[in-house]
Formats: sequence, structure tokens, C-alpha cells
Amino acid sequence: MYPPGLTIDPRASGADLFTADPVGQAPDLAAIARLIESCRKCSLGHSRLHVVPGEGDPRAQLVCVGEAPGATEDETGRPFVGRAGKLLDDILKAIGLARESVFICNVLKCRPPGNRTPEPMEAAACSPYLHRQLELIRPKVILALGKPAATTLLDQPASVSLGDLRGKVHRYRGIPLVVTYHPAALLRNPNWKPATWDDVRIARRILDGEPV
Ligand code: URA
Repeated sequence: MYPPGLTIDPRASGADLFTADPVGQAPDLAAIARLIESCRKCSLGHSRLHVVPGEGDPRAQLVCVGEAPGATEDETGRPFVGRAGKLLDDILKAIGLARESVFICNVLKCRPPGNRTPEPMEAAACSPYLHRQLELIRPKVILALGKPAATTLLDQPASVSLGDLRGKVHRYRGIPLVVTYHPAALLRNPNWKPATWDDVRIARRILDGEPV
């Protein structure tokens, strides 16, 4: 039996075999990105072109969390750089934020083939990276873009509807969390834009110091 709390890192050998959880102990975002780069915890680690750990200000006050990289993200290794990404940039601009001033990442760090919804085991395998990113950044507010991000961060069942989660301020490990539509969904349903603007204005007010 191994001591409680210790896991075996398959890349380790000899004395290094008994290392404590490397993701939970990653000292900074670059260290997490290196762990993601060598990750093969699920099959996406074999089909991806590039990992997409996330990017932005490591001291950001706002972190945006999406679902998973799409084709353009897989090609470039950068989050939200396709059409949905351009819309996310506009959403951020609407509340006075430049893309570079926030941190943008996803639940999954590798592209699911055909952009299918993440499998529960993929989200379970990948989410420790996201949790450690949020622990290190400790933003003032988190914006969950779409249901997979919201249910992963709020530990909600997949049966919950986005409508049930929107319009209120949740807490993720003490950090205020606002749920809104995914930009890709907005491209398909532009009539959801006013509601999205309402949601991001909640995030703006938290950034401005409104008590929650
Ligand atoms: N959709 C996402 O959820 N994330 C991206 O990075 C791009 C599109």
C-alpha cells in the first residue's frame, strides 16, 4: 500500500515513484502547461495536434472557462481563437476588458474529435489541471461559458439546465462564479446575446467591487 494521498506518476522512476500529486503541486501555470503537454490520461492525448492549456494574465481578475478546444485551437494551441473566440473578445470588450487582461481556458485541454461534447471520464481526467489553474490564479470572478464548464466547476449533474444556472452568482471554492451561454451557442442563436450581456454585466459589477 502507498501512503494515503500519494499517487504514482507513470513518467517517474526510482525514488521519484513516490511523488505526491504533481498537478496539485505544480508551482505555476507554466508547470501545469508542461504536465498537460505530456498528458495521456485519456484517448484525446493521442488524437490531438496540440494541447491547449489556456492563456492570458496569470494574475487575471477574471477567468473565462469554456468547454474544449475546437479545430482552430487544436491547430494553434491557443484557446478561443476561432469564430467563437472573436465573439468572446467582443463580449469581453463590452465590459471594458481586453483579452490579454483575462485568463482564458477550457475544461478539456485537448480537442474531442469532431468537437463532440466531452465525455464524463475525459472531464474527470482533465479537470485537475483546471482546478489547479484556478487555485494559482485565484481570480476575483470566474465566467463559466456553457453547461460543461458550469457543471464541472459547480459539480452539478449533466441533467441541470443552463437556464437553472444563469442569472445568479454561484461560488467556486469561495470565488464568485457567473454562468452564461457559450459563444459558439450565441453564433447559432444570436437572440441569446442580450441575456449574455446581462450575465457578463454581473461579472463586471463583481470586478468593480459590488458585494456578493
Ligand atoms: N470553444 C471552446 O469551448 N473553447 C475554445 O477554446 C474554442 C471553442
